[in-house]
Amino acid sequence: MSKRKAVSIVLTRNPESPEVYLVERNPALKFFGGYFAFPGGTLDEEDHSAQIANAAVAQPDSLPFMAAAARELFEETGVLLARGDNMIEAGKRRHYRQQLLAGEIDFHEMLGRESLAIDARDFHFMGAVLTPEFAPVRYDTQFYWVQVPDGQMPEIVHGELVSGNYCHADAALVRWKRGEMIIVPPVIFMLREFAGHSVAAGTPAILKHTEDYSRGAIHQIYFTPGVQMVPLATGTLLPATHTNAYLVGESQLYLIDPAPSDPNEQQRFWNYLDKRLAEGCEFKAILLTHHHADHVGALQACVERYGLPILAHRNTAEKLGIMPTRYLEHGDELDLGESPDGQPDWQLKVYHTPGHASGHLAFQETRYGSVIAGDMISTLSTIVINPPDGHLAAYMESLRLLESVTTGTIYPSHGPAVRTGREVLRYFIKHRQEREQKLLATLTAEPQSTYELVRRVYNDVDPAIWSLAELSLQAGLIKLREEGKCAERGGGFVKRS
Ligand SMILES: [Zn+2]
Repeated sequence: MSKRKAVSIVLTRNPESPEVYLVERNPALKFFGGYFAFPGGTLDEEDHSAQIANAAVAQPDSLPFMAAAARELFEETGVLLARGDNMIEAGKRRHYRQQLLAGEIDFHEMLGRESLAIDARDFHFMGAVLTPEFAPVRYDTQFYWVQVPDGQMPEIVHGELVSGNYCHADAALVRWKRGEMIIVPPVIFMLREFAGHSVAAGTPAILKHTEDYSRGAIHQIYFTPGVQMVPLATGTLLPATHTNAYLVGESQLYLIDPAPSDPNEQQRFWNYLDKRLAEGCEFKAILLTHHHADHVGALQACVERYGLPILAHRNTAEKLGIMPTRYLEHGDELDLGESPDGQPDWQLKVYHTPGHASGHLAFQETRYGSVIAGDMISTLSTIVINPPDGHLAAYMESLRLLESVTTGTIYPSHGPAVRTGREVLRYFIKHRQEREQKLLATLTAEPQSTYELVRRVYNDVDPAIWSLAELSLQAGLIKLREEGKCAERGGGFVKRS
Protein backbone atom coordinates (compact mmCIF):
# COMPACT_ATOMS: atom_id res chain seq x y z
CA MET A 1 0.00 0.00 0.00
CA SER A 2 1.66 3.18 -1.15
CA LYS A 3 1.60 6.51 0.64
CA ARG A 4 1.83 9.91 -1.01
CA LYS A 5 2.32 13.31 0.53
CA ALA A 6 -0.39 15.81 -0.31
CA VAL A 7 -1.64 19.21 0.76
CA SER A 8 -5.09 20.76 1.02
CA ILE A 9 -5.77 24.48 1.23
CA VAL A 10 -8.63 25.99 3.19
CA LEU A 11 -8.91 29.34 1.41
CA THR A 12 -10.96 32.09 3.04
CA ARG A 13 -11.68 35.66 2.00
CA ASN A 14 -12.70 36.72 5.48
CA PRO A 15 -11.24 34.85 8.46
CA GLU A 16 -14.11 36.05 10.65
CA SER A 17 -16.58 34.16 8.47
CA PRO A 18 -17.24 30.39 8.22
CA GLU A 19 -16.86 30.73 4.44
CA VAL A 20 -14.37 28.56 2.57
CA TYR A 21 -13.53 28.03 -1.08
CA LEU A 22 -14.68 24.66 -2.44
CA VAL A 23 -13.75 23.30 -5.85
CA GLU A 24 -15.77 20.76 -7.81
CA ARG A 25 -13.70 17.89 -9.21
CA ASN A 26 -14.37 16.80 -12.77
CA PRO A 27 -16.91 13.91 -12.71
CA ALA A 28 -14.67 12.04 -15.19
CA LEU A 29 -11.80 11.80 -12.67
CA LYS A 30 -11.16 8.36 -11.26
CA PHE A 31 -10.20 9.69 -7.83
CA PHE A 32 -13.19 11.44 -6.21
CA GLY A 33 -14.67 12.53 -9.55
CA GLY A 34 -17.70 14.80 -9.06
CA TYR A 35 -16.91 15.53 -5.42
CA PHE A 36 -16.38 18.96 -3.87
CA ALA A 37 -13.07 19.43 -2.07
CA PHE A 38 -10.57 22.03 -0.99
CA PRO A 39 -7.97 23.00 -3.61
CA GLY A 40 -4.77 20.99 -3.30
CA GLY A 41 -2.71 18.13 -4.64
CA THR A 42 0.36 16.01 -4.18
CA LEU A 43 3.88 17.26 -3.49
CA ASP A 44 6.29 17.56 -6.42
CA GLU A 45 10.03 17.03 -6.35
CA GLU A 46 10.58 20.78 -6.81
CA ASP A 47 8.54 21.58 -3.66
CA HIS A 48 11.26 20.05 -1.50
CA SER A 49 13.91 22.58 -2.52
CA ALA A 50 11.69 25.68 -2.74
CA GLN A 51 12.79 28.85 -0.94
CA ILE A 52 10.47 29.90 1.87
CA ALA A 53 10.72 33.17 3.78
CA ASN A 54 10.34 33.20 7.57
CA ALA A 55 10.75 29.44 7.60
CA ALA A 56 11.65 29.63 11.29
CA VAL A 57 7.96 30.05 12.23
CA ALA A 58 7.13 26.60 10.80
CA GLN A 59 8.12 23.00 11.45
CA PRO A 60 10.96 22.21 9.02
CA ASP A 61 9.17 19.18 7.58
CA SER A 62 6.10 21.27 6.80
CA LEU A 63 7.98 23.58 4.39
CA PRO A 64 7.60 21.35 1.29
CA PHE A 65 3.86 21.16 2.07
CA MET A 66 3.67 24.97 2.10
CA ALA A 67 5.57 25.15 -1.17
CA ALA A 68 3.17 22.65 -2.72
CA ALA A 69 0.18 24.51 -1.27
CA ALA A 70 1.26 27.78 -2.93
CA ARG A 71 1.91 26.02 -6.23
CA GLU A 72 -1.34 24.02 -6.24
CA LEU A 73 -3.36 27.06 -5.20
CA PHE A 74 -1.92 29.03 -8.11
CA GLU A 75 -2.44 26.19 -10.60
CA GLU A 76 -5.99 25.41 -9.53
CA THR A 77 -7.38 28.85 -8.64
CA GLY A 78 -4.94 31.45 -9.99
CA VAL A 79 -4.49 32.84 -6.48
CA LEU A 80 -0.84 33.72 -5.97
CA LEU A 81 0.10 33.49 -2.32
CA ALA A 82 3.56 35.04 -2.18
CA ARG A 83 5.11 38.20 -0.86
CA GLY A 84 7.47 40.73 -2.42
CA ASP A 85 7.85 44.43 -3.07
CA ASN A 86 5.95 44.22 -6.35
CA MET A 87 3.10 41.72 -6.74
CA ILE A 88 2.67 40.86 -10.40
CA GLU A 89 -0.47 42.31 -11.92
CA ALA A 90 -3.52 40.21 -12.83
CA GLY A 91 -2.87 39.89 -16.58
CA LYS A 92 0.67 38.68 -16.06
CA ARG A 93 -0.44 36.28 -13.34
CA ARG A 94 -2.94 34.78 -15.78
CA HIS A 95 -0.25 34.42 -18.43
CA TYR A 96 2.13 32.71 -15.98
CA ARG A 97 -0.66 30.37 -14.90
CA GLN A 98 -1.29 29.31 -18.51
CA GLN A 99 2.41 28.63 -18.97
CA LEU A 100 2.51 26.67 -15.74
CA LEU A 101 -0.53 24.57 -16.68
CA ALA A 102 1.08 23.91 -20.07
CA GLY A 103 4.20 22.68 -18.27
CA GLU A 104 6.35 25.42 -19.81
CA ILE A 105 7.60 26.98 -16.59
CA ASP A 106 8.41 25.98 -13.03
CA PHE A 107 6.37 27.70 -10.32
CA HIS A 108 9.23 28.23 -7.88
CA GLU A 109 11.52 29.57 -10.63
CA MET A 110 8.77 31.97 -11.64
CA LEU A 111 8.63 33.32 -8.09
CA GLY A 112 12.41 33.79 -8.06
CA ARG A 113 12.34 35.63 -11.39
CA GLU A 114 9.68 38.01 -10.04
CA SER A 115 11.48 38.49 -6.69
CA LEU A 116 8.52 36.99 -4.84
CA ALA A 117 8.72 34.51 -1.98
CA ILE A 118 6.39 32.07 -0.32
CA ASP A 119 6.12 33.19 3.29
CA ALA A 120 5.57 30.66 6.07
CA ARG A 121 3.55 33.23 8.03
CA ASP A 122 0.76 32.98 5.44
CA PHE A 123 0.05 29.32 6.24
CA HIS A 124 -1.92 28.22 9.31
CA PHE A 125 -1.57 24.53 10.02
CA MET A 126 -4.91 22.76 10.60
CA GLY A 127 -3.68 19.21 10.98
CA ALA A 128 -2.62 16.18 8.97
CA VAL A 129 -4.84 13.31 7.88
CA LEU A 130 -3.66 9.97 6.55
CA THR A 131 -6.29 8.34 4.30
CA PRO A 132 -7.80 5.48 6.31
CA GLU A 133 -7.01 1.92 5.33
CA PHE A 134 -9.86 1.39 2.87
CA ALA A 135 -7.97 2.98 -0.01
CA PRO A 136 -5.38 1.37 -2.28
CA VAL A 137 -3.37 4.61 -2.29
CA ARG A 138 -3.14 6.50 0.95
CA TYR A 139 -2.49 10.23 1.13
CA ASP A 140 -0.66 11.84 3.99
CA THR A 141 -2.37 15.22 3.66
CA GLN A 142 -1.55 18.39 5.56
CA PHE A 143 -4.29 21.02 5.76
CA TYR A 144 -3.50 24.75 5.80
CA TRP A 145 -5.84 27.61 6.25
CA VAL A 146 -4.81 30.63 4.16
CA GLN A 147 -6.34 34.04 3.59
CA VAL A 148 -6.78 35.14 -0.03
CA PRO A 149 -4.47 38.13 -0.76
CA ASP A 150 -6.22 41.48 -1.24
CA GLY A 151 -7.54 42.07 -4.73
CA GLN A 152 -7.29 38.45 -5.89
CA MET A 153 -10.26 36.32 -6.92
CA PRO A 154 -9.97 32.56 -7.36
CA GLU A 155 -10.89 31.41 -10.85
CA ILE A 156 -11.22 27.84 -12.10
CA VAL A 157 -9.85 26.69 -15.45
CA HIS A 158 -12.03 23.85 -16.74
CA GLY A 159 -10.09 20.61 -16.62
CA GLU A 160 -9.45 18.56 -13.51
CA LEU A 161 -11.82 20.98 -11.80
CA VAL A 162 -15.08 22.24 -13.22
CA SER A 163 -16.17 24.94 -10.78
CA GLY A 164 -15.27 26.71 -7.56
CA ASN A 165 -17.10 28.89 -5.06
CA TYR A 166 -16.84 30.43 -1.64
CA CYS A 167 -19.38 28.57 0.48
CA HIS A 168 -20.67 29.03 4.00
CA ALA A 169 -19.90 25.84 5.89
CA ASP A 170 -23.45 25.39 7.16
CA ALA A 171 -24.98 26.06 3.72
CA ALA A 172 -22.65 23.49 2.14
CA LEU A 173 -23.64 20.93 4.80
CA VAL A 174 -27.34 21.60 4.19
CA ARG A 175 -26.85 21.00 0.46
CA TRP A 176 -24.84 17.87 1.24
CA LYS A 177 -27.59 16.52 3.51
CA ARG A 178 -30.16 17.17 0.81
CA GLY A 179 -28.06 15.10 -1.59
CA GLU A 180 -27.44 18.14 -3.83
CA MET A 181 -23.67 18.01 -3.59
CA ILE A 182 -21.13 15.37 -2.62
CA ILE A 183 -18.08 16.32 -0.61
CA VAL A 184 -14.85 14.41 0.04
CA PRO A 185 -14.93 12.83 3.52
CA PRO A 186 -12.26 14.85 5.41
CA VAL A 187 -13.82 18.13 4.26
CA ILE A 188 -17.14 17.12 5.85
CA PHE A 189 -15.81 16.94 9.37
CA MET A 190 -13.99 20.24 8.87
CA LEU A 191 -17.12 21.97 7.59
CA ARG A 192 -18.91 20.71 10.70
CA GLU A 193 -16.35 22.48 12.87
CA PHE A 194 -16.58 25.70 10.83
CA ALA A 195 -20.38 25.78 10.87
CA GLY A 196 -21.64 28.48 13.17
CA HIS A 197 -18.26 30.07 13.80
CA SER A 198 -15.30 31.39 11.89
CA VAL A 199 -12.62 29.31 10.25
CA ALA A 200 -10.14 30.77 12.75
CA ALA A 201 -12.32 29.65 15.69
CA GLY A 202 -12.86 26.19 14.17
CA THR A 203 -9.16 25.47 13.73
CA PRO A 204 -8.34 24.24 17.28
CA ALA A 205 -11.16 21.67 17.12
CA ILE A 206 -9.90 20.42 13.76
CA LEU A 207 -6.35 20.13 15.08
CA LYS A 208 -7.66 18.07 17.98
CA HIS A 209 -9.64 15.84 15.60
CA THR A 210 -6.63 15.16 13.39
CA GLU A 211 -4.41 14.48 16.42
CA ASP A 212 -6.96 11.94 17.65
CA TYR A 213 -6.91 10.33 14.20
CA SER A 214 -3.14 10.03 14.27
CA ARG A 215 -3.43 8.31 17.66
CA GLY A 216 -5.77 5.70 16.16
CA ALA A 217 -9.24 7.19 16.61
CA ILE A 218 -11.80 6.02 14.03
CA HIS A 219 -12.11 8.47 11.15
CA GLN A 220 -15.46 10.04 10.37
CA ILE A 221 -15.86 8.76 6.82
CA TYR A 222 -19.06 9.75 5.07
CA PHE A 223 -19.28 9.49 1.31
CA THR A 224 -23.00 10.26 1.63
CA PRO A 225 -25.00 11.45 4.66
CA GLY A 226 -26.26 8.84 7.10
CA VAL A 227 -23.86 6.06 6.10
CA GLN A 228 -20.59 5.96 7.97
CA MET A 229 -17.82 3.68 6.74
CA VAL A 230 -15.60 2.25 9.47
CA PRO A 231 -12.60 0.35 8.02
CA LEU A 232 -11.28 -2.11 10.59
CA ALA A 233 -8.24 -4.38 10.36
CA THR A 234 -9.19 -8.02 9.75
CA GLY A 235 -7.44 -11.12 8.49
CA THR A 236 -9.18 -10.84 5.14
CA LEU A 237 -7.93 -11.76 1.66
CA LEU A 238 -5.11 -9.65 0.26
CA PRO A 239 -4.84 -7.06 -1.27
CA ALA A 240 -7.51 -6.03 1.25
CA THR A 241 -6.32 -5.76 4.86
CA HIS A 242 -9.54 -4.31 6.26
CA THR A 243 -13.23 -4.89 6.32
CA ASN A 244 -15.59 -1.93 6.29
CA ALA A 245 -18.13 -2.00 9.08
CA TYR A 246 -20.96 0.51 8.65
CA LEU A 247 -23.07 2.68 10.91
CA VAL A 248 -26.30 3.56 9.16
CA GLY A 249 -28.69 6.16 10.49
CA GLU A 250 -28.54 9.62 11.99
CA SER A 251 -29.19 9.22 15.70
CA GLN A 252 -30.67 5.71 15.73
CA LEU A 253 -27.96 3.58 14.24
CA TYR A 254 -27.78 0.12 12.76
CA LEU A 255 -24.36 -1.44 12.99
CA ILE A 256 -23.46 -3.58 9.98
CA ASP A 257 -20.72 -6.26 10.15
CA PRO A 258 -18.77 -5.86 13.41
CA ALA A 259 -15.72 -7.28 11.70
CA PRO A 260 -12.44 -7.32 13.67
CA SER A 261 -11.33 -10.28 15.75
CA ASP A 262 -8.18 -8.61 17.08
CA PRO A 263 -8.84 -7.26 20.62
CA ASN A 264 -6.88 -4.05 19.98
CA GLU A 265 -8.85 -3.32 16.84
CA GLN A 266 -12.06 -4.13 18.70
CA GLN A 267 -11.05 -1.65 21.39
CA ARG A 268 -10.56 1.09 18.75
CA PHE A 269 -14.08 0.33 17.56
CA TRP A 270 -15.57 0.35 21.09
CA ASN A 271 -13.90 3.71 21.82
CA TYR A 272 -15.68 5.16 18.84
CA LEU A 273 -19.03 3.52 19.55
CA ASP A 274 -18.84 4.68 23.17
CA LYS A 275 -18.26 8.20 21.92
CA ARG A 276 -21.34 8.04 19.70
CA LEU A 277 -23.39 6.79 22.66
CA ALA A 278 -22.08 9.63 24.80
CA GLU A 279 -23.17 12.05 22.07
CA GLY A 280 -26.72 10.74 22.44
CA CYS A 281 -26.89 8.19 19.63
CA GLU A 282 -28.77 4.95 20.10
CA PHE A 283 -27.82 1.61 18.58
CA LYS A 284 -30.80 -0.34 17.36
CA ALA A 285 -29.33 -3.64 16.19
CA ILE A 286 -26.43 -5.44 14.58
CA LEU A 287 -27.05 -6.43 10.96
CA LEU A 288 -24.95 -9.04 9.19
CA THR A 289 -24.29 -9.13 5.45
CA HIS A 290 -23.05 -12.75 5.70
CA HIS A 291 -21.24 -15.26 7.89
CA HIS A 292 -17.60 -15.04 6.69
CA ALA A 293 -15.07 -14.71 9.49
CA ASP A 294 -13.73 -11.33 8.30
CA HIS A 295 -17.23 -9.83 8.85
CA VAL A 296 -18.21 -11.20 12.26
CA GLY A 297 -14.98 -11.20 14.34
CA ALA A 298 -16.41 -8.80 16.93
CA LEU A 299 -20.00 -10.06 16.83
CA GLN A 300 -20.07 -11.86 20.16
CA ALA A 301 -18.05 -9.17 21.94
CA CYS A 302 -20.29 -6.47 20.48
CA VAL A 303 -23.47 -8.22 21.60
CA GLU A 304 -22.07 -8.64 25.09
CA ARG A 305 -20.84 -5.07 25.35
CA TYR A 306 -23.89 -3.26 23.99
CA GLY A 307 -26.67 -5.82 24.50
CA LEU A 308 -27.86 -5.47 20.93
CA PRO A 309 -30.19 -7.72 18.97
CA ILE A 310 -28.76 -9.49 15.92
CA LEU A 311 -30.64 -9.39 12.63
CA ALA A 312 -29.46 -11.75 9.90
CA HIS A 313 -30.57 -14.09 7.15
CA ARG A 314 -31.50 -17.62 8.25
CA ASN A 315 -28.60 -19.20 6.32
CA THR A 316 -26.11 -16.81 7.92
CA ALA A 317 -27.41 -17.60 11.40
CA GLU A 318 -27.23 -21.35 10.73
CA LYS A 319 -23.66 -21.11 9.46
CA LEU A 320 -22.64 -19.15 12.55
CA GLY A 321 -24.61 -21.38 14.90
CA ILE A 322 -26.39 -18.41 16.46
CA MET A 323 -30.01 -17.66 17.18
CA PRO A 324 -30.65 -14.12 16.01
CA THR A 325 -33.38 -11.95 17.46
CA ARG A 326 -34.97 -11.82 14.05
CA TYR A 327 -34.42 -13.41 10.64
CA LEU A 328 -34.18 -10.88 7.84
CA GLU A 329 -35.75 -11.66 4.50
CA HIS A 330 -35.77 -10.10 1.09
CA GLY A 331 -38.10 -7.10 1.06
CA ASP A 332 -37.92 -6.35 4.79
CA GLU A 333 -37.63 -2.70 5.75
CA LEU A 334 -36.02 -1.34 8.90
CA ASP A 335 -36.98 2.04 10.29
CA LEU A 336 -34.18 4.63 10.30
CA GLY A 337 -36.30 7.45 11.71
CA GLU A 338 -35.71 10.88 10.20
CA SER A 339 -33.19 11.30 7.37
CA PRO A 340 -30.21 13.66 7.89
CA ASP A 341 -32.17 16.43 6.15
CA GLY A 342 -35.26 15.87 8.27
CA GLN A 343 -37.40 13.78 5.91
CA PRO A 344 -39.76 11.32 7.63
CA ASP A 345 -40.01 7.56 6.98
CA TRP A 346 -36.38 6.92 6.19
CA GLN A 347 -36.01 3.17 5.70
CA LEU A 348 -33.29 0.60 5.26
CA LYS A 349 -34.36 -1.98 2.68
CA VAL A 350 -33.14 -5.54 2.84
CA TYR A 351 -32.17 -7.47 -0.30
CA HIS A 352 -31.35 -11.15 -0.26
CA THR A 353 -28.34 -11.42 -2.59
CA PRO A 354 -27.05 -15.02 -2.55
CA GLY A 355 -24.06 -16.01 -4.66
CA HIS A 356 -20.97 -15.08 -2.66
CA ALA A 357 -22.70 -16.63 0.36
CA SER A 358 -26.14 -18.24 0.37
CA GLY A 359 -27.39 -15.99 3.18
CA HIS A 360 -25.86 -12.79 1.85
CA LEU A 361 -27.84 -9.58 2.37
CA ALA A 362 -27.37 -6.11 0.93
CA PHE A 363 -29.00 -3.00 2.37
CA GLN A 364 -30.25 0.20 0.78
CA GLU A 365 -31.19 3.38 2.56
CA THR A 366 -34.15 5.08 0.89
CA ARG A 367 -33.21 8.77 1.11
CA TYR A 368 -30.12 8.81 -1.14
CA GLY A 369 -30.36 5.34 -2.68
CA SER A 370 -26.98 4.24 -1.29
CA VAL A 371 -26.37 0.52 -1.17
CA ILE A 372 -24.27 -1.28 1.43
CA ALA A 373 -23.23 -4.16 -0.77
CA GLY A 374 -21.21 -6.35 1.62
CA ASP A 375 -19.13 -8.81 -0.38
CA MET A 376 -21.27 -8.51 -3.51
CA ILE A 377 -18.53 -6.30 -4.89
CA SER A 378 -15.05 -5.23 -3.84
CA THR A 379 -13.38 -2.11 -5.16
CA LEU A 380 -9.96 -3.66 -4.48
CA SER A 381 -10.20 -7.06 -6.17
CA THR A 382 -12.59 -9.70 -7.52
CA ILE A 383 -15.18 -11.39 -5.32
CA VAL A 384 -14.47 -15.05 -4.70
CA ILE A 385 -17.31 -17.46 -5.46
CA ASN A 386 -16.51 -20.57 -3.48
CA PRO A 387 -18.90 -23.50 -4.14
CA PRO A 388 -21.03 -25.00 -2.76
CA ASP A 389 -22.16 -22.08 -0.55
CA GLY A 390 -20.98 -19.77 -3.31
CA HIS A 391 -22.95 -20.09 -6.52
CA LEU A 392 -22.13 -18.19 -9.69
CA ALA A 393 -25.55 -18.19 -11.35
CA ALA A 394 -27.14 -16.94 -8.13
CA TYR A 395 -24.36 -14.35 -7.80
CA MET A 396 -25.01 -13.03 -11.31
CA GLU A 397 -28.71 -12.77 -10.57
CA SER A 398 -27.96 -10.88 -7.33
CA LEU A 399 -25.62 -8.49 -9.16
CA ARG A 400 -28.42 -7.79 -11.67
CA LEU A 401 -30.88 -7.21 -8.83
CA LEU A 402 -28.56 -4.67 -7.20
CA GLU A 403 -27.88 -3.06 -10.57
CA SER A 404 -31.64 -2.55 -11.04
CA VAL A 405 -32.18 -0.89 -7.63
CA THR A 406 -28.98 1.09 -7.01
CA THR A 407 -29.47 4.79 -7.63
CA GLY A 408 -26.68 6.18 -5.48
CA THR A 409 -23.32 5.40 -3.97
CA ILE A 410 -22.26 1.79 -3.51
CA TYR A 411 -20.44 0.79 -0.33
CA PRO A 412 -18.36 -2.40 -0.48
CA SER A 413 -16.95 -4.36 2.44
CA HIS A 414 -13.45 -3.96 1.04
CA GLY A 415 -12.18 -0.79 -0.64
CA PRO A 416 -13.53 2.72 -1.11
CA ALA A 417 -17.16 3.59 -1.86
CA VAL A 418 -18.07 4.61 -5.39
CA ARG A 419 -20.52 7.37 -6.27
CA THR A 420 -21.66 5.73 -9.51
CA GLY A 421 -22.96 2.52 -7.95
CA ARG A 422 -24.95 1.30 -10.91
CA GLU A 423 -22.01 1.73 -13.31
CA VAL A 424 -19.79 -0.27 -10.99
CA LEU A 425 -22.30 -3.10 -10.87
CA ARG A 426 -22.61 -3.05 -14.66
CA TYR A 427 -18.84 -3.26 -14.93
CA PHE A 428 -18.72 -6.35 -12.69
CA ILE A 429 -21.59 -8.02 -14.56
CA LYS A 430 -19.82 -7.43 -17.88
CA HIS A 431 -16.51 -8.62 -16.47
CA ARG A 432 -18.08 -11.89 -15.27
CA GLN A 433 -19.86 -12.42 -18.58
CA GLU A 434 -16.63 -11.93 -20.50
CA ARG A 435 -14.85 -14.43 -18.26
CA GLU A 436 -17.64 -16.92 -18.84
CA GLN A 437 -17.37 -16.44 -22.60
CA LYS A 438 -13.64 -17.03 -22.39
CA LEU A 439 -14.16 -20.22 -20.38
CA LEU A 440 -16.74 -21.42 -22.91
CA ALA A 441 -14.35 -20.65 -25.77
CA THR A 442 -11.51 -22.49 -24.01
CA LEU A 443 -13.49 -25.69 -23.46
CA THR A 444 -13.14 -28.25 -26.26
CA ALA A 445 -14.13 -31.86 -26.92
CA GLU A 446 -10.85 -32.91 -25.23
CA PRO A 447 -11.06 -33.05 -21.42
CA GLN A 448 -9.04 -30.36 -19.64
CA SER A 449 -8.37 -30.25 -15.91
CA THR A 450 -9.13 -27.14 -13.82
CA TYR A 451 -5.33 -26.79 -13.48
CA GLU A 452 -5.04 -26.46 -17.27
CA LEU A 453 -8.17 -24.36 -17.66
CA VAL A 454 -7.20 -21.77 -15.05
CA ARG A 455 -3.91 -21.11 -16.90
CA ARG A 456 -5.76 -20.50 -20.16
CA VAL A 457 -8.83 -18.65 -18.93
CA TYR A 458 -6.87 -16.46 -16.50
CA ASN A 459 -3.73 -15.99 -18.65
CA ASP A 460 -4.25 -12.20 -18.34
CA VAL A 461 -3.96 -12.08 -14.53
CA ASP A 462 -1.06 -12.39 -12.10
CA PRO A 463 -0.26 -16.13 -11.63
CA ALA A 464 -0.09 -15.42 -7.88
CA ILE A 465 -3.90 -15.32 -7.80
CA TRP A 466 -4.45 -18.47 -9.89
CA SER A 467 -5.26 -20.52 -6.81
CA LEU A 468 -8.07 -18.07 -5.98
CA ALA A 469 -9.09 -17.87 -9.62
CA GLU A 470 -9.48 -21.65 -9.61
CA LEU A 471 -12.37 -21.27 -7.13
CA SER A 472 -14.10 -18.87 -9.51
CA LEU A 473 -13.34 -21.20 -12.40
CA GLN A 474 -14.98 -24.09 -10.57
CA ALA A 475 -17.99 -21.87 -9.90
CA GLY A 476 -18.06 -21.06 -13.62
CA LEU A 477 -17.91 -24.75 -14.56
CA ILE A 478 -20.80 -25.54 -12.22
CA LYS A 479 -22.87 -22.80 -13.85
CA LEU A 480 -22.11 -24.07 -17.37
CA ARG A 481 -22.86 -27.64 -16.30
CA GLU A 482 -26.21 -26.56 -14.86
CA GLU A 483 -26.96 -24.87 -18.16
CA GLY A 484 -26.00 -28.00 -20.11
CA LYS A 485 -23.04 -26.27 -21.80
CA CYS A 486 -20.26 -28.38 -20.31
CA ALA A 487 -19.75 -31.84 -18.86
CA GLU A 488 -17.24 -33.65 -16.68
CA ARG A 489 -15.46 -36.46 -18.50
CA GLY A 490 -12.15 -38.33 -18.22
CA GLY A 491 -11.00 -36.39 -15.15
CA GLY A 492 -11.59 -33.07 -16.89
CA PHE A 493 -14.17 -30.83 -18.47
CA VAL A 494 -15.45 -30.83 -22.03
CA LYS A 495 -17.72 -28.63 -24.08
CA ARG A 496 -21.24 -29.81 -24.80
CA SER A 497 -23.16 -28.49 -27.70
ZN1 LIG B 1 -17.28 -12.88 2.27
